[in-house]
Amino acid sequence: MMVIPAGLYIHVPFCLSKCFYCSFYSIKSTNLIPDYLLALQKEIEFYSKHFHSLDTIYLGGGTPSLLSYDQLAGILSAIHNNYRIAAKAEITIEANPGDISPAYLRGLRKLGINRLNIGIQSFDNKLLKFLGRRHSSLEAISAIEKSRRAGFDNLGIDLIYGIQGTNIKSWKNTLQKAVSFAPEHISCYQLSLDHKTPLYRTYGQNGFSLPDENTQANFFMTTSGLLEAAGYIHYEVSNFARGKFFQSQHNGKYWRHSPYLGLGPGAHSFLDSKRWWNKSSVRAYLKEIGEGRRPVEYSEELTLEQLQLEALFMGLRTSAGINLRLFKRNYDMDLLAEKKTILEKLRENGLVKLERGFLLPTRRGLAVADSLALI
Ligand code: SF4
Repeated sequence: MMVIPAGLYIHVPFCLSKCFYCSFYSIKSTNLIPDYLLALQKEIEFYSKHFHSLDTIYLGGGTPSLLSYDQLAGILSAIHNNYRIAAKAEITIEANPGDISPAYLRGLRKLGINRLNIGIQSFDNKLLKFLGRRHSSLEAISAIEKSRRAGFDNLGIDLIYGIQGTNIKSWKNTLQKAVSFAPEHISCYQLSLDHKTPLYRTYGQNGFSLPDENTQANFFMTTSGLLEAAGYIHYEVSNFARGKFFQSQHNGKYWRHSPYLGLGPGAHSFLDSKRWWNKSSVRAYLKEIGEGRRPVEYSEELTLEQLQLEALFMGLRTSAGINLRLFKRNYDMDLLAEKKTILEKLRENGLVKLERGFLLPTRRGLAVADSLALI
């Protein structure tokens, strides 16, 4: 029996301060880090009975770069002691620009971390302040330069568009600046308002607003056009890579229903057709593991209909699209036959195309990918 290697996600749920737009689970009480690391070690050991080999590891958060070299070394050695790691595994860490010194970056390389994703968000100090980021534009640039000097040759940066006070022209300047550093990967997220965020609470109070639908579409198309012209592949709604090799292998697992294991508070896992996720609370996580239980909040067995819908939703968010033969084999559904009328309509409207047995979103289709899957 062939065992498909899984992806491992470790959620490091600590941030020194909370960015105003952020809805990810994290807390500021860094004094809980030692207890968290002990609990994580137990969770790593527990799941080695269910997941054996890994070919991607992703340290995300929160702010994994708050962990010291020794703490990260402890996590990685626990992983190596409990799982088989593929020789060319993609090992990513997310980092805050203000946290990374040259010595720290060299340490990351020594630990085998071969992909670095830096949360830049903007090169404009005013916008960084609006977002509640704790780094400056200069620190962002210096983080990129230091990472290169430390030998990172698979570097990703995150940017946010649609921020109050920006327009297409200023966003183009941001993208051009990003491209000038030639990162291997760029993620561009549209600023959104989650009701749990501080930004949401100030929405409407001080004249702050989000761009209307047309402007948002314009931001999206401009981003896609500019980055593709600069040599990047627009391979997922928000993600661009300078070549196929640099597309995130780890995130690809989420989009293909490949097995993945998520450890740490709030982390999600998927195996066969089962999905489960941990409690989004460090204290509850520590308590459950301390008392010998899995810290699972909820688990579900997805029905064939749910799997079909998810596969359609995720497939149409990627430029690789949907392989119709594999879709039929994996989800027992002949998409072309069962969705004939609506697919024809989407094709006429220039949102999808059919090529060599694949259903592919066009650039305009990617811009409205969330609604495409509701077909
Ligand atoms: S955006 Fe990142 S650094 Fe900011 S609060 Fe959220 S998880 Fe923490």
